[in-house]
Amino acid sequence: MKEVKEPEQKPSPPKKPLIFYYCVALVVLMLLNALFFPTVLERQVYEVPYSQFLTMVDNDQVSEVALDEDSREIVFIGTDENGREGYYKTGVWPDDGQRLLSQLREDPDIVFTAEIPTQANPILAFLVSWILPIFLFVLIGQLLSRWMVKRMGGGMPGGMGNAMTFGKANAKIYVEEASTGVSFADVAGQDEAKDALMEVVDFLHEPQKYTEIGAKLPKGVLLVGPPGTGKTLLAKAVAGEAKVPFFSISGSEFVEMFVGMGAAKVRDLFKQAGEKAPCIVFIDEIDAIGKKRDTGGYGGNDEREQTLNQLLAEMDGFDSSKGVVLLAATNRPESLDPALMRPGRFDRRVRVELPDLQGRVAILKVHGRHVHVDADVDWAAIARATAGASGAELANIVNEGALRAVRQGRKTVTQADLEESVETVIAGAQRKNAVISPEEKKLVSYHEVGHALVAALQTHSAPVTKITIIPRTSGALGYTMQVDQGERNLMSRAELVNKIATLTGGRAAEELIFGPDNITTGASNDIEQATKLARAMITRYGMTEQFDMVALETVNNQYLGDDASLACSAETAAEIDRQVVDTVKAAHRKALDLLKEHQDQLHKLAGYLLEKETITGEEFMALLQNG
Ligand code: ADP
Ligand code: MG
Ligand code: ZN
Repeated sequence: MKEVKEPEQKPSPPKKPLIFYYCVALVVLMLLNALFFPTVLERQVYEVPYSQFLTMVDNDQVSEVALDEDSREIVFIGTDENGREGYYKTGVWPDDGQRLLSQLREDPDIVFTAEIPTQANPILAFLVSWILPIFLFVLIGQLLSRWMVKRMGGGMPGGMGNAMTFGKANAKIYVEEASTGVSFADVAGQDEAKDALMEVVDFLHEPQKYTEIGAKLPKGVLLVGPPGTGKTLLAKAVAGEAKVPFFSISGSEFVEMFVGMGAAKVRDLFKQAGEKAPCIVFIDEIDAIGKKRDTGGYGGNDEREQTLNQLLAEMDGFDSSKGVVLLAATNRPESLDPALMRPGRFDRRVRVELPDLQGRVAILKVHGRHVHVDADVDWAAIARATAGASGAELANIVNEGALRAVRQGRKTVTQADLEESVETVIAGAQRKNAVISPEEKKLVSYHEVGHALVAALQTHSAPVTKITIIPRTSGALGYTMQVDQGERNLMSRAELVNKIATLTGGRAAEELIFGPDNITTGASNDIEQATKLARAMITRYGMTEQFDMVALETVNNQYLGDDASLACSAETAAEIDRQVVDTVKAAHRKALDLLKEHQDQLHKLAGYLLEKETITGEEFMALLQNG
């Protein structure tokens, strides 16, 4: 699989972490302390005992004395034995200190002052101890707030917005083709979507071609489709092809903690886009902000509603002839606010559906370009086996195949690698050391052959291509693979009934061979699928006499799983349940009858499978026809 490189961003001023500024401030303070305070701000003052003071007075070593009445300290200037002058300080003077001092006052050699300043430079001291800290405080505060704004990237309502650059939308801007590295050639099997988007690109290249005729381009194009079908990839391809500035932002990036910030981001995004026109604005996963507003439930969501309102307002506000085209992608179109889809907003909807057979071949080939594959790899066979797979899953299959080749020390990817990775994606990896008793293995063989035989004995069933009893990490102890030869879009009632019978075939074989008391839990997945199909036949496909073409269920989300909710009365629901049971029961009986009739073949095939562990569709058919 090809890694889509993250496009380069426009360089932004480097952000330094908060701790950096703290460290700078700390170092500055420490330097000041170490350098200035002892020498410049304060003189070195020696503390000496009172007795030494007296001795120095006696020795005429004291020249100036000051008394601090409050702290009862004596500060004096004296000279030591070497004749060096210094500042001295003694502790509290004793009770007779007053007497001593009055005596000192009479000494003509000693100057008696009120205060001996120990600070060398009072003005500098004042600056350093009062002004500098305040200055540092303000500086740190400023840096801090700048940093916070950058971090949050959010907006604040009101005038502060402009002054402090609040409310910047941190949309990534891709400018040149080289920056996304994705072109339309990288997107396979989505020809309609590509055509629609190509028109947009063309308009941005040659707007006059359209304006001459008087044609207006849609303002917004909404890409809808199941996950993994290439919506984001398509948008990147548009960016790669358009050669105009491309703003890309995810819907969830508008969701902010504070009310009004998301709206400010929307404003900013459109302001930037307006300045850079012609350009494209892409909002991925737009359902994050575009959800219906009147959902009731747990109170309103003011922030989201404001953001959406702002988006709607901006979409009305800009003029598409200026060349700003809005792209958006979602896999939940039904949850979007209808206002978003109204003409003049996202007026064009591009469906990005699951790929069909041809599409799958094309996607496999696109991803196969980037790995070394054997010349004889049959992509079509892989595509047939992967009905319903999305582009992302197919990309994954190719990559898994390549990984398997590497594990086995080969230089190219073979068909077997790809087939194995299809199975890995469908059923999980092989569980090499799973412990399975011989009895269980035998039962699983009969179960799987039961499925295969019922499928083969009915018309309107997809041919069996593989049966295996190698356990998988998904928990399956074996499985039967059926692959349609061509592309299937519709299924007839007969096919559905047969499919349910095939699903019940595994359990039917267990019953027939091992007796009703020895049936196992191995059929749980079959049961689930059979029930789902039977129910859908009744509630959604209108395939019963009784309910005719009445929709009894509504599908909640067309792209994310097929969960549906019943839309009928309780009595109808009970009747539906009865019919589901009848349908599955009938299919089960049919499977049981078929297997009973062909019990010899069942034994023979199950024995063969038990021995081989995996048999191909051809082997299976050969044995079936000869037996
Ligand atoms: P979405 O946004 O629809 O959920 P993405 O665009 O993110 O899906 O697709 C995920 C990946 O799947 C892509 O990066 C690409 O590798 C692969 N892929 C999906 N669809 C296609 C496609 N049509 N052609 C080629 N690759 C595809
Ligand atoms: Mg996506
Ligand atoms: Zn089964």
